[in-house]
Amino acid sequence: LLAIRGLSKSFGSHHVLRSVDLDVSRGEVVTVIGPSGSGKTTLLRCVNFLETYDGGSIRIDGAEVGFSDGEGRRRRGERDLARMRAETGMVFQQFNLFPHLTAAENVMLGLRRVRGKGKAEARSIAEHWLGRVGLGHKADSLPGELSGGQQQRVGIARAVAMDPKILLLDEITSALDPELVGEVLDVVRSLAGDGMTMLMVTHEIAFARDASHRIVFMADGAVAAEGPPAELVANTAGNERLGAFLARFR
Ligand code: ATP
Repeated sequence: LLAIRGLSKSFGSHHVLRSVDLDVSRGEVVTVIGPSGSGKTTLLRCVNFLETYDGGSIRIDGAEVGFSDGEGRRRRGERDLARMRAETGMVFQQFNLFPHLTAAENVMLGLRRVRGKGKAEARSIAEHWLGRVGLGHKADSLPGELSGGQQQRVGIARAVAMDPKILLLDEITSALDPELVGEVLDVVRSLAGDGMTMLMVTHEIAFARDASHRIVFMADGAVAAEGPPAELVANTAGNERLGAFLARFR
C-alpha cells in the first residue's frame, strides 16, 4: 500500500533522512522506533506532505503522490493537497484540535471542506466515529472540557472519519499523563483489529511489541533494523545500537 524508496531529506547541511526504504502492506501495523533525532517524525511528515523531501519517492497504491520540491505544491493547490493528506490521516502528539469547535465540529470540518459532505451526513459520520472511540456522549463538548486522553481520541476520530488509506500516528501518547495513555492505546489496538493500515512512531516499546506486525528501528536517518517484534527484540546481537536502545526500556 505504501512504498517509500530512497527517501532523503536535509535541513541545511543536516541529513535527517538518508535513503530510507520502507513498505507498509494493506492491513499492516508498522511501528517506527529509534533514538531522539533519528528522523522518525520527519519521515511521517513527508508521507503526509507536511514536508517536502530532496530525493526518492513515496507511493501510495502505486501512485507517486509525494513531491520533492515546492513546485508540486504550487501546481496542486491547497485543496488537492488537503485531499491527498486525507489519504494519509495523521494524528499528532499535540492533538491540534480547534479549541473553539466542539468535538463533533472538529471531526466534521475535513468531511465538509475536503470530502464535500453535507452537514447532516458529516454530523452522522462524526457521531459514528466519536462513538467508536468511546466519546459518543462528548460530541458537543469543547476540547477544553475534555481530558488529554479524550482530546487525543477526538484527534483519532477526526483522522479515521476521513476514511484514509493509511493512518499515521506520531507519538500520540507522548503529551499525555501516564494514566491516560492506556485509553488511547486501546483505541489504536481496536482500529488495528479492524484491519486499519497504520504507520506509527512511538516511545511505548511494550505497546509496539504487542500491537504491531513489524517494527522498524531508525538510527541517524536510516533504517538500521526491522522485523516482526519478537524477532527484532530477540536478535539484537548483531546490532549494537538496537541493543543499546532497547536496553533502556528493560
Ligand atoms: P524525536 O523522537 O525526538 O521526536 P525524531 O526521530 O522524530 O525525534 P525528527 O523530529 O524527525 O526526529 O528530527 C530529526 C532531526 O531533524 C532533528 O535533529 C531535528 O532537530 C531536525 N529537524 C526537524 N525539523 C526541522 C526543521 N524544520 N528545521 C531544521 N531542523 C529540523
